[in-house]
This record gives sequence, structure tokens and C-alpha cells, in this order.
Amino acid sequence: MKDKIIVALDIQTKEDFERLSSNLQGCAQYVKVGMELYYTFGPRIIKILKELGFKVFLDLKVHDIPNTAMKACKTITKLGTDMINVHAAGGVEMMIAARLGVEAALKEDSSLERPLIIAVTQLTSSDQKMLENELFIKAPIEDVVVHYAKMAKQAGLDGVVSSALEVKIIKEQVGSDFICVTPGIRPKGSAGNDQKRVTTPKEAFSIGSDYIVMGRAITKQENPKQAFTEILKSIEE
Ligand code: C5P
Repeated sequence: MKDKIIVALDIQTKEDFERLSSNLQGCAQYVKVGMELYYTFGPRIIKILKELGFKVFLDLKVHDIPNTAMKACKTITKLGTDMINVHAAGGVEMMIAARLGVEAALKEDSSLERPLIIAVTQLTSSDQKMLENELFIKAPIEDVVVHYAKMAKQAGLDGVVSSALEVKIIKEQVGSDFICVTPGIRPKGSAGNDQKRVTTPKEAFSIGSDYIVMGRAITKQENPKQAFTEILKSIEE
């Protein structure tokens, strides 16, 4: 179970990085490097985390023309990442290009393991009102998420990032082996912050999430290791 909880290292300073990575070592096994950390320290951060023994989900949410998406995914595969992602909103052609980029990297370096390629459906900070008023998407959010998940499957990707609340319908309509990675997770009674579609860790796994992503509920606590251990306990209870 430990390797199914991905801790989002949304931090920007060397001090925070050292504090968190050493505190979480030997307890958390999978971490997520997002834009904050990656754009602050660059690609070397992946190597450092791998050397510390962590699996790394590089969450850069690639979204560009197919050729650029392909080159970007080739590069980030070469870093030794275990999971990468793209925006499904980039379309099927872009997602296929992303997968081909990963495959090209593996062809050039046979020592690499294939990272899981995951598509972002709708950010867990978006809701129906935002979709309708700002993106001009009139369909129900659940239909949009399932449609994007089907496109990702068609492009040969491994799964999606979605709210845990959408896992059941994704598994039903796209396939039970289609991976669901779910952020927007909060322990019972804690603040949602900017996340709108939230569930508890235990609920997320019981609904069928394959991996959960947790950031502030662990990293902003005085003792992140203890927060992680309590979350693990709450899931296994
Ligand atoms: O602190 P919190 O647990 O809300 O962090 C969630 C993490 O998951 C953040 O790094 C955020 O960028 C990421 N994420 C998300 N919703 C998505 C995809 C990624 O919240 N759909």
C-alpha cells in the first residue's frame, strides 16, 4: 500500500527539499515532482530522488503540438521517471505522439524502464461551473472525464489522473485495468484548500483508485513522516 501513496513535493527551497526528503525516506516510497520543484531545480532533482530510493512521478502535464509533446516525453523518459503525464485536452494525436516519444527513448536506452503514461482529465480544482462559464464546456463534468479517459485509452496510454469520485465510472466504461491516479485527497476533517472534488484516502482506495496523490496534508504538517504513517493506518484500518 505504501507505494500507492504518492507524496506531492510541492516545494521550492533547498531547505524544504532536504527536510522533506530526509523525513520521508524509509516511509514514503513514491513522490511526485510537479512544476514548482522541477522548474526551481531542473532535471537533476529526478536523479537526486532516484538515488535516495524514491519512485518518481514527474507531473509536468505536457500539453502542446504533437511534435513538441513527443520530444518532451522522450526527454523526461530519459531522466528515469516512473510515471509521467500529459493533458488529455491536447487530443488523441498529441497523446499518441507522447507515447511514441516514450518508446523512442526506450529504444535508445535499453536500461530504462517504461514509465506509466497518464493523462490528466479535468483538474480536481475545476468544477461544473468553471467548465461551463470559463471553458464553454456544457457537458456534465463526469461525461467529459469519461470521454477524455476513452481518448487516452485509444492513444495507448496507461491511465488517467482524475478525482476519486470519477474512478468507478472510468473503470466501468474504459476498463478495470485502466489506471486511476487520484489527487484531491484529504484526511477526514481537514481543509480542502483549493481542491473542490475531494475524498478521504480510505474512500479513494475503496472506490478503486490505483494510486492516490497527497500533498499539503502530508508536506505541510510539522512531522510529515507521522502524517504519512497515520494516513497509511487510516487506510488499513
Ligand atoms: O496539496 P494537494 O494534496 O492538494 O496536492 C495535490 C497535487 O496533485 C498537486 O501537486 C496538484 O498539482 C496535483 N494535481 C491535482 N489535480 C490534478 C492533477 C494533479 O491536484 N488533476
